[in-house]
Amino acid sequence: MDIKVPRGTQDILPSETGKWQVVEELIREQCRMYQYKEIRTPVFEHTELFTRSVGDTTDIVQKEMYTFQDRGNRSLTLRPEGTASAVRAFVEHKMFGYADQPVKLYYMGPMFRYERQQAGRYRQFVQFGIEAIGSADPAIDAEVISLAMSVYQKAGLKKLKLVINSLGDTDSRVSHKTALVSHFEPHIAEFCSDCQNRLQKNPLRILDCKVDRNHPLMETAPSLADFLNEESAAYFDKVKEYLSILNIPFEIDTNLVRGLDYYNHTAFEIMSAAEGFGAITTLAGGGRYNGLVEELGGPNAPGIGFAMSIERLLLAIEAENNEWSEQSTLDVYVIGLGEAAKKKAVELTYQLRQQKITAEMDYLDRKMKTQMKSADRLGAKYVIVIGDDELEKESVMLKDLATGTQNLVPLSSLIDQIKTSSTQLEAEE
Ligand code: ATP
Ligand code: MG
Repeated sequence: MDIKVPRGTQDILPSETGKWQVVEELIREQCRMYQYKEIRTPVFEHTELFTRSVGDTTDIVQKEMYTFQDRGNRSLTLRPEGTASAVRAFVEHKMFGYADQPVKLYYMGPMFRYERQQAGRYRQFVQFGIEAIGSADPAIDAEVISLAMSVYQKAGLKKLKLVINSLGDTDSRVSHKTALVSHFEPHIAEFCSDCQNRLQKNPLRILDCKVDRNHPLMETAPSLADFLNEESAAYFDKVKEYLSILNIPFEIDTNLVRGLDYYNHTAFEIMSAAEGFGAITTLAGGGRYNGLVEELGGPNAPGIGFAMSIERLLLAIEAENNEWSEQSTLDVYVIGLGEAAKKKAVELTYQLRQQKITAEMDYLDRKMKTQMKSADRLGAKYVIVIGDDELEKESVMLKDLATGTQNLVPLSSLIDQIKTSSTQLEAEE
């Protein structure tokens, strides 16, 4: 038997999960600071949810979805992204009726896309994302962007680049669309078959094409910036102003259109400028989606959000050579020598754990010396040794591995002593 993980997926081993937990905790902490509350939705949804919201001319819907028929003949899809589900839940649970608006949500969990695997691109990956639904205030656009930036900054990243653009409102996009069609139409034969399909259906998508990105007509394509109506331009100006108030530097890229259909007004991406990050430099992407809630059967509630993958965040941390200070989490390693002492060791290990002191012991009847080596490898602060002598005196030998000192400590005061010296240790650190 030779069964491996499916292509594009990975096992995250115990030696790696510590990093994941640090980053996940940092993210949850930022969400608490900004008052975004977690929402957990199913990992599969009705396929129609994604075709309707993400859009059927997008790469995601056309090439990347894991779609299957269940035993009741329903078409279901493993979620390729989180916004559609969050908005579906917003509508389904009538969150637009909540007293406090906008509704601020975050999610963190696996997403699935049938993609070609490469560094930073997987078929199952974990996205963290937020959605603020119910406000069209440009200040919240800045808040959403600043939360994403804070996560990266708290993770120690310095080489960040924020790129923003405005996709305008529907009116602005209609006139831009006409201009795009006349721009590309005479040469459309030189483009990939996807772009040929996009020309009439959704010419904006051509700008996001990965196959034809170097075609000269891309550079000269009519820019959305020139088609923004007064309202859209004013909105974009306010977003920029708020970003400046927050001291968040940004660049404007008028060709930034993002891969999903539902965006309008503000679109943004955060990139890593770290050398050695590899070909893919985008860490996070997001934007405003006024109209999506209505499209999914709700009222006219405007929204904005972003998503980032934890995988790319971890890659960026690595690319910037940031050290992980792996803190030891083992307080005590308990060694019982002989049958009677072993029983005491089992009991004591249990009691320590009940008292919130992390404890480990041997279950292979190994020699004392080997157990000491284990204690060292595990980074234990203390070793407790119990032999017949100690048993008789109702005491244990408590050895401090950092200083090498050891004392006979009565069982009755052992836990107190460990607790006080640990707090002293922490204070000194
Ligand atoms: P790309 O251009 O890299 O394909 P995208 O436009 O498809 O990105 P989004 O749908 O905007 O990406 O997803 C937001 C974020 O999710 C990305 O910026 C990236 O951090 C992450 N992401 C997207 N696809 C993958 C993947 N296959 N593996 C790992 N992370 C991913
Ligand atoms: Mg993609």
